[in-house]
Amino acid sequence: MTASANASPAVESRPYDVAIVGGGIIGLSTAMQLLDSSPGLRVAVVEKEERLARHQTGHNSGVIHSGIYYRPGSWKSRFCVGGKDRLIDFCQRNEIEFDECGKVIVATHESELGRLQDLYERGVANGVPDLEVVEPERLAEIEPHTSGIRALWAPHTGIIDYVQVAEAYAGKFQSAGGDVFTDTTVVAVRQTADGSALETSRGTVQARHVINCGGLYADRLARMMGEDTDVRIIPFRGEYYKLAQASEGLVKGLIYPVPDPRFPFLGVHYTRNIHGYVEAGPNAVLAWAREGYRKSNISVGETMGALTFPGFWKMTAKHWRTGMQEMNRSYRKSVFVNDLRKLIPDIQPGDLEPGGSGVRAQAVAASGALLDDFHILRGRRALHVLNAPSPGATSSLAIGEYLTEMARQDFGLPTA
Ligand SMILES: Cc1cc2nc3c(=O)[nH]c(=O)nc-3n(C[C@H](O)[C@H](O)[C@H](O)COP(=O)(O)OP(=O)(O)OC[C@H]3O[C@@H](n4cnc5c(N)ncnc54)[C@H](O)[C@@H]3O)c2cc1C
Repeated sequence: MTASANASPAVESRPYDVAIVGGGIIGLSTAMQLLDSSPGLRVAVVEKEERLARHQTGHNSGVIHSGIYYRPGSWKSRFCVGGKDRLIDFCQRNEIEFDECGKVIVATHESELGRLQDLYERGVANGVPDLEVVEPERLAEIEPHTSGIRALWAPHTGIIDYVQVAEAYAGKFQSAGGDVFTDTTVVAVRQTADGSALETSRGTVQARHVINCGGLYADRLARMMGEDTDVRIIPFRGEYYKLAQASEGLVKGLIYPVPDPRFPFLGVHYTRNIHGYVEAGPNAVLAWAREGYRKSNISVGETMGALTFPGFWKMTAKHWRTGMQEMNRSYRKSVFVNDLRKLIPDIQPGDLEPGGSGVRAQAVAASGALLDDFHILRGRRALHVLNAPSPGATSSLAIGEYLTEMARQDFGLPTA
C-alpha cells in the first residue's frame, strides 16, 4: 500500500536528512533511489495533494518516448534514452503494464521531408534502436488509416500509466523506511542553523537538505528558499479529445506530425492509451492558472505574476502568432479536426469527444526563451528541478539517479 491510499501520518518534528517537495514521478523516483543508495537516511516526501501524482504525472499522454527529438548531448537525449530502458526494466520487475506499440512521425507535405530526415539522424545519433524511414506502402501496413508521403517508424516507443509507475516508486520508498506526507502544502521556508524549516499546512518539517521537485510551483518554491533565479514557470495547458469508441480502430499505436522545431511541444497527435482508448492532442495554450485544467480556471494572482515577468512579454512578442493559432484551435473544434485530418483524412468531427487536459510546467527565461532542456539549479543545501517537461516521465529513473548523485556530492550523504 502506498501513502496515496492511506491517511497521511502526522508531520514529524525530528529533522530529516533530506526533504523532497513534490510527490510527482520525479520527486518519488528520487526519493526511492536516495534510500536505495543510502539506506538508513531519513527522507520525507511532502506533497500538497491528498494523493500522489495528481498533476503533470497524472495528466500526460502516457507515452514512453524513445529519444528521437532531442539534441544529441542534451540532458533530454541522455536521460530519455537511458531512462526508457531502465523504466521498462522496472516495469517488468514490478509487473506494471506497458506496451511497446511503436510510433510513426508522419510527413504530409514535401516541406517537412528535410525535418523528418533530421529527426531520423538525431534519433540515430542518440542511440535510438531500429529507427526506419518508411514510404507510404509500409506506412499503410503500420497505420492503415494514416496518409503521408514519408514517415519515421520508431518501433520501441511505448505506452504506460505513469500514475502506476509513480505509486510503485512511492511504495518502494515507504518500504525502505521513507515518510510520505500528503495533503501537506509547503507555504514558507525558513533557513535555520543546520538546514531548512519547511512551514507546511500541517506543521513544520525540518530538513538538513531539500530537493525541490514542485513541478508547476518549482520556481516559487525555489524563491521561497531564497534562490535568485530568473526562470519563471509559465503554464501551458494541453487539451485532448478522445476518439469515440466506434472510431478507435482508426489508430493502432501512436501517430505524430513532424514537429515545429521552434517549439518544445510535439504538435497534436493520436495516442493509444494503455487503458485501451485513443486520445487526440494535446494542443498548447497559455493557462491563466498554474493548475488551470479548464479554460474557466483563472487565478488573478498567478496571472499577475506572469504578466509582471518581463520574460513573459518577450516570449509573447516572439511567439504571438503561434499563440493565436493555438487559441483558435482550442476554441474551434473544426480547426483541431483539420489538423488531425492531415494525419488521418477520414477523421470527422463526430469521431471526437471531449477529453481531459494537462498543464505543462514550462520554464521561461528572463530573455523570453522557452527552456528546452531539463534544468536543475544547485542551491544552498538544496537542489531545484526547475524544468522537467516531456520526456520527464520517461526519464524519471535517470533524472532521479542524477539527482541522487548530485545530492550525495553536494550534501555529503553517505553511500551504502
Ligand atoms: C500534457 C502533458 C503531456 C505529457 N506527455 C508526456 C509523455 O507522454 N511522456 C513523458 O515522458 N512525459 C510527458 N509529459 C511530461 C511529464 O508528465 C512530466 O515531465 C513529469 O510528470 C514531471 O514530473 P514532476 O514530478 O516534475 O511534476 P509533477 O507531476 O507536476 O509533480 C509536482 C508535485 O509537486 C507538488 N507541489 C507543488 N507545490 C507544492 C507545495 N508548495 N507543497 C507541496 N507539494 C507541492 C504538486 O502537487 C505535484 O504533485 C507530459 C506533460 C504534460 C503536462
